[in-house]
Amino acid sequence: LPKKHSDSGSTIFSEMTILAQKQEAVNLSQGFPDYEIDNRLKKLLCEGTEKNFNQYAPMPGNPLLIENLIEFNKQRTIPISITKENITISPGATYGIYTALASIISFGDEVIVLEPNYDSYVPAIEMNGGKSVFVSLNDDFKVDFEALKQAIAEKSKAIIINSPHNPSGKIWKKEDWEKLSNIIEDTEIIIISDEVYDILTYDDREFYSAFHHPKLRERCFSIFSFGKMFHITGWKVGYILASPELSEAYRRVHQYLAFSVNAPAQYALAKYLEVFDRNVNIKLMQEKRDFFLNEFQNLPFTLNEKAEAGYFQILNFKNISDLSDKDFAVWLTEKAKVATIPVSAFYHDQKSTGNVRFCFAKKEETILKAIQNLKEHL
Ligand code: PMP
Ligand code: GLN
Repeated sequence: LPKKHSDSGSTIFSEMTILAQKQEAVNLSQGFPDYEIDNRLKKLLCEGTEKNFNQYAPMPGNPLLIENLIEFNKQRTIPISITKENITISPGATYGIYTALASIISFGDEVIVLEPNYDSYVPAIEMNGGKSVFVSLNDDFKVDFEALKQAIAEKSKAIIINSPHNPSGKIWKKEDWEKLSNIIEDTEIIIISDEVYDILTYDDREFYSAFHHPKLRERCFSIFSFGKMFHITGWKVGYILASPELSEAYRRVHQYLAFSVNAPAQYALAKYLEVFDRNVNIKLMQEKRDFFLNEFQNLPFTLNEKAEAGYFQILNFKNISDLSDKDFAVWLTEKAKVATIPVSAFYHDQKSTGNVRFCFAKKEETILKAIQNLKEHL
């Protein structure tokens, strides 16, 4: 392999999913739903192609989708006011994060990453000639703002934030954004804010985007995905909010990377935004989290904190095994036939954490099958 690509290895999500398939294990590792999606989405996708949305969409995105996203953002619990200069449709959030980085970093620039972090950030920084600088979150996954401040240097170009956070489900509060804004006030640092679980916040918690903050919105990319929002991870469509200047920088790269995004899917998403009820999605997912936790409480895992948002729950296995979390996850898949993600995979040194991440975006029968398998082996 050429040196450039040999460093990043293969993603843990493929690795554990392939192992789950080979072992015929219940796959609670990779974050994808195994339940039916809203039938209206299926119909709208067919309608998109029937109505001849089959050729290139405009480079920034389908105008109706953009218009409906402007409205959707206005209707949030805490509204976000934007215009079409602020939005670009992307082929998923992974692409959005990569393209945002590609549009701002030059060789040798530093990008600060709060770990545990989603696995695409570091390869995306390094493929663009940047250098990752790591700051650990506290044990409760809160930000150590003093450590973050210390990590800022002359070469710091960007900080990547992820809220709601994968793997912990922690949400950044208004005060967190305020602290971040104060820390970077006298710098040129740009914020790349991965917010793909924006609408899935539980127990009446509010979602704050970097884009809600009056100062940060001038210097951030907020990155969203319809994959998790509408339970359609295979559609790979998302969108980016940025200031007009940063949108322009982003589009200069986007026009030569993907140019535009799947046209029938953009049509379907535009129409679906007109009928979709966010409360239905939250209720569905909160019930799934609670069902998962209720069923798992009789197993010897330890729960430190309920997920505040998203698709995942971290559980500690110290009462079950002394293995490293990677070895434990492999053992659990091979012997107990339940696949999870070892949390060490979200750290650059991959040091064992004693924790594994379960995806609860599954049918009840899938969770019950996992419980049955675990009960036989733990
Ligand atoms: N960021 C985070 C934190 C994620 O969990 C995921 C997976 N949904 C992504 C980005 C990637 O999203 P997409 O599938 O839209 O590329
Ligand atoms: N976001 C998903 C997760 O955290 C995985 C997406 C992928 O497989 N790349 O499980």
